[in-house]
Amino acid sequence: MDFFTKVAGRQEVPTPGNAVAAPIFQTSVYAFTDIDEVDALLGGQRQGFSYTRGGNPNFDALAQLTASLEETEAAVVTASGTASLLTAIMALTSGPARILLSREIYGGTVGISRSILGRYGCHMEWVDTHNLQELEGALDGPETVLVVESISNPLGRVSPLDDIITLAHQHGVPVLVDNTFATPFHARPATLGADLVAHSVTKFMGGHSDLILGVVAGSRARIAEVNRIVDSAGFTPDPLAAWLALRGVRTLALRMERSSANALQLAAALEGMAGVRRVYYPGLSSHPDHEVARRLLSRGFGSIVSLSVDGGYAAVQRMVRRLQLVRFVPSLGDIATTVSHPAVASHRELSAEEKAAVGIDDSVVRISVGIEQVSDIIADFRHALS
Ligand SMILES: *Cc1c(COP(=O)(O)O)cnc(C)c1O
Repeated sequence: MDFFTKVAGRQEVPTPGNAVAAPIFQTSVYAFTDIDEVDALLGGQRQGFSYTRGGNPNFDALAQLTASLEETEAAVVTASGTASLLTAIMALTSGPARILLSREIYGGTVGISRSILGRYGCHMEWVDTHNLQELEGALDGPETVLVVESISNPLGRVSPLDDIITLAHQHGVPVLVDNTFATPFHARPATLGADLVAHSVTKFMGGHSDLILGVVAGSRARIAEVNRIVDSAGFTPDPLAAWLALRGVRTLALRMERSSANALQLAAALEGMAGVRRVYYPGLSSHPDHEVARRLLSRGFGSIVSLSVDGGYAAVQRMVRRLQLVRFVPSLGDIATTVSHPAVASHRELSAEEKAAVGIDDSVVRISVGIEQVSDIIADFRHALS
């Protein structure tokens, strides 16, 4: 089935009375007729739900749809994108691990690896996922896991995932891909061999800035391990968030098609605009990863455009204040266009040297392009930058 058909498609779980929209199973627990029944369920001989920390029909509906879109056997929803990354890293390692992070990874992933897992003997190292030779040198070592994004935040770097995954697997290193920016509409890393794929559903998957949620997709065996951790650690979301997210995912294809087309037009317009020092968008031929992006992404290049503004922090501040349509929102993936400032928001966790190493400074603005009429978005930036 085509992607557009899959997202809009049928009901994933049976509903009472064949209701077209699933109810929200806002319950913490289920009742049983006798002890044998609960014993069979907890022992795995019987399908069903007992306690919502371990599973719920709304979680299943979203997980099944995500697995179908990511072309994996299974998926598990989590309380947030951050919880999905933490759980996935834990599921791919056992004990003190070396966590290899691609240079331009999301700041929160650095926080997880350094501040949280670092307390338990894990060790974080930066790797350049655009330099396969350097990467190969870092792959040898016990208990290693590699974490990379399909499209990076905020500069739109696209690593050669197919080559990276092959190389990592040759060295016995599992690979976790954060697919938040690309969404399965543009990239399906599991089809390239990624061991687990994680999302902040909070962003494009949900699409409406009204929930916090994550999901991890992968093989049945890997997801069983992720599920064990989610259940034991209590990284479980709320049923309502999963219900809202499923509602959002129904229009994922439509939203991404529109917003990535808008992004390409906005990026091209910004490239020639006064006040703009540089534009970062993998769909532009000026982007260092344009060829890799053309090879690995489908149906466009995503909806995040970043730019470096002439005049640094003060100029960015003026631009943000002058934007009328576009709001400053330290997140992304909404149906409306928003801007953020990575140095102050998403990449706070990084030291000044680490930010410099990936090309993020005070002049960089990240735009999450929405589904509005693109000429209105362009006009707003032209006015604000003037
Ligand atoms: C926002 C984000 C996360 C974290 O997700 P939350 O839902 O905020 O916990 C992880 N990765 C990327 C790329 C993100 O943009």
